[in-house]
Amino acid sequence: MRLAGKVAVITGSSRGIGAAIAQEYCAQGAKVVINYVHSEAQAQALADKLNQDGHNAIAIKADVTERAEIKQLFEQAVAAFGKIDILVNNAGINKRGWFDEVTDEAWDEIMGVNLKGPFICCQEVFPYMQAQQGGRIINISSVAGQYHGPKTVHYAVSKAGLNSLTKVIARYGAEHNILVNAVAPGIVRTDQTADEIDSPAGRKVIDMTLLKKAARMEDITSACVMLASDEQQYMTAQVLAVSGGAILGA
Ligand code: NAP
Repeated sequence: MRLAGKVAVITGSSRGIGAAIAQEYCAQGAKVVINYVHSEAQAQALADKLNQDGHNAIAIKADVTERAEIKQLFEQAVAAFGKIDILVNNAGINKRGWFDEVTDEAWDEIMGVNLKGPFICCQEVFPYMQAQQGGRIINISSVAGQYHGPKTVHYAVSKAGLNSLTKVIARYGAEHNILVNAVAPGIVRTDQTADEIDSPAGRKVIDMTLLKKAARMEDITSACVMLASDEQQYMTAQVLAVSGGAILGA
């Protein structure tokens, strides 16, 4: 039980990577807040299943781009579980498009959910973590933020921005023992990649990795457990690529 006694809020955890993180965090002893914006039935079903299995989970609706809703999310989390130890900024959307196809509306939408959302969540969770002099923030970035691919213009920029936000917020967190890192996955099967992963375009993405395969969900969740747990107390301001060697780094 690597997260026994911890309380985690995971944005966008009704499905996909966020839901998998919520399940694994529970398996490691954490109490979790499942957040959604549209998928109420899925989020509630996941919370019900986790509670039936003897864990502690609640589902709360909040749009990460709406500050008032995020304030309420954290207030409800603390009312339910008494504190917030871990925030995973996972909620994210992707829209593929070449440079000349990206509209202002699409740009604003991607930046809103993928970058402004984590900014708001970090700002609003900080007072709770400062008050208890400790916390972990894990931003779910993407290999796209380091690859800067041509068909994910706004998505790549949003994730590169999220990597930068990770480092800036880590500066502010350090004196309060708030460790801030990002996990940057390569491609994994979820709703976001359902139309891509088995296509020639998906094959091309997979062929860019050293390992020539997609990520398994547990490759990503295990990195998120490590960064949230007390076994790791010296990593902050880092972008941890879980990308099969697609990005070799420095
Ligand atoms: P997904 O299956 O499409 O799920 C997206 C989740 O985000 C859903 O729970 C959704 O809630 C939530 N969400 C969307 N907009 C939101 C908002 N405004 N406020 C709150 N929640 C919102 O996506 P995924 O593939 O699991 O991706 C999760 C994260 O991993 C994203 O940040 C994504 O960019 C990143 N990522 C994914 C991959 C991949 O291969 N899948 C690779 C690299 C990085 P509702 O269900 O209520 O709509």
